[in-house]
Amino acid sequence: MSTYLVGQKCGPGVLGALVLDVKTILFSLVVAELTASAVLCFLFFFWKDRDRAGHLSFGLWSIAFLLGAIGTLLISFRGVLPDDLTIIAANFLILFATGLRRSGVAAFFHLPLRLWIAAGLAGVWLLLCSVPDFAATMSSRVAYVQPVMILYIAWSAIICLRWNTENLVTPKVYAFSAALETSAHFSLLTALGFGAENGLFEAISGHVILIALLLILVAMVLSMFTALAMPIERSLLQFKSAAYRDCLTGLPNRRAVFERAATFTSVSGANNCLTVIRFDIDEFKRVNDKHGHATGDLVLQVFGRVCEETRPADTVAGRLGGDEFVLLSTRMEPNQARILAERIRAHFAAACSEETEGTVQVGLSAGVSSVPLDLGLDEALEIADRAMYEAKACGRGKTVVGSAEKARVFSGTEDAQFAFYNPHPA
Ligand code: GH3
Ligand code: MG
Repeated sequence: MSTYLVGQKCGPGVLGALVLDVKTILFSLVVAELTASAVLCFLFFFWKDRDRAGHLSFGLWSIAFLLGAIGTLLISFRGVLPDDLTIIAANFLILFATGLRRSGVAAFFHLPLRLWIAAGLAGVWLLLCSVPDFAATMSSRVAYVQPVMILYIAWSAIICLRWNTENLVTPKVYAFSAALETSAHFSLLTALGFGAENGLFEAISGHVILIALLLILVAMVLSMFTALAMPIERSLLQFKSAAYRDCLTGLPNRRAVFERAATFTSVSGANNCLTVIRFDIDEFKRVNDKHGHATGDLVLQVFGRVCEETRPADTVAGRLGGDEFVLLSTRMEPNQARILAERIRAHFAAACSEETEGTVQVGLSAGVSSVPLDLGLDEALEIADRAMYEAKACGRGKTVVGSAEKARVFSGTEDAQFAFYNPHPA
């Protein structure tokens, strides 16, 4: 086999350590695949309870890289070992391994594995090799192996782009590495499949093969790292989402609400104010005491659902803790917030009654506040809190629009004036 120094033909022994040839690339690929297989195998056992899809992908990829490494190792012994091993068995393993890699990608996105395709196309290879003419002609063998490889790898890339509904970064990198690998296999198909027939083989195929193998090495190493990173990125995203969500109601939790509110200062709304509705369920302790904690939980869940169904899309709702909830908007006037609070109170009472078949009648008190954006959420919540406790003091089941100085009470029907908080009175 010719020896190349980055594409330039050299004599044996020249700059020994820096010499790059086909065998070196193949051995590098074997080492990379074995390493990836071992790490993925470790993660397969470690990842069991984290993400079922990621766990299955780790298992399939680990086997795929192991089989790929054995296949590549056999290819590198061409001329030393019998052709049955270095051509037929090697390509069988590589075809099956690449099919398994695609199944691993499918598993990650909860799609059918279709392992029969990997087994079937590798089986067809064995059948074709039983025909002496096919087995003896390199261009025929290449014309089968390379398109199948291109099919698997391009299919993996399409899955990564099409089914990445979580908008993860790592599947996009995987698709990029798959595109690199696909182009390398196209080059191999051209150089080995057609180049030999039209006389170009001697002139360019040596260089093309070397460059294509280098590209495969780079792409495979990239896809190995990405294969490791994909389930890890998904897990991190899930941890992050869990840290920002209230697990009982599904609403954003206190931390999420405050972080969202912090972004409001830079994105000013139409009225440049932060409007807040603070809700507290009336006599909720009695619901727990009378009907049990599970019914109390159900009531909280009903509020979460009603709130999400009723609130406008440009508002943010969240659970502050216990039976306290909040709704934020940068676009609503206090009067609009009051009307919304009344609507949510009415829907909540109706939904609770319906959900518990009339056994639980529970009300809601609400406090509304509106402050200039730069005063922030703490100030808005403070005023809304005072307004809400005023609603409690006035007999519960009411909405109070708060201001720094005074508050007006609404019990659903009145259309009274309300005082808008002005932090800079004239
Ligand atoms: P008020 O009308 O004055 O608000 O009276 P209240 O009984 O609702 O008083 P408060 O709001 O202080 O009570 C909150 C209760 O909510 C206390 C606690 O037992 C209950 N609670 C807090 N978190 C949960 C929860 O996750 N599930 C259930 N079932 N109850 C909860
Ligand atoms: Mg309460």
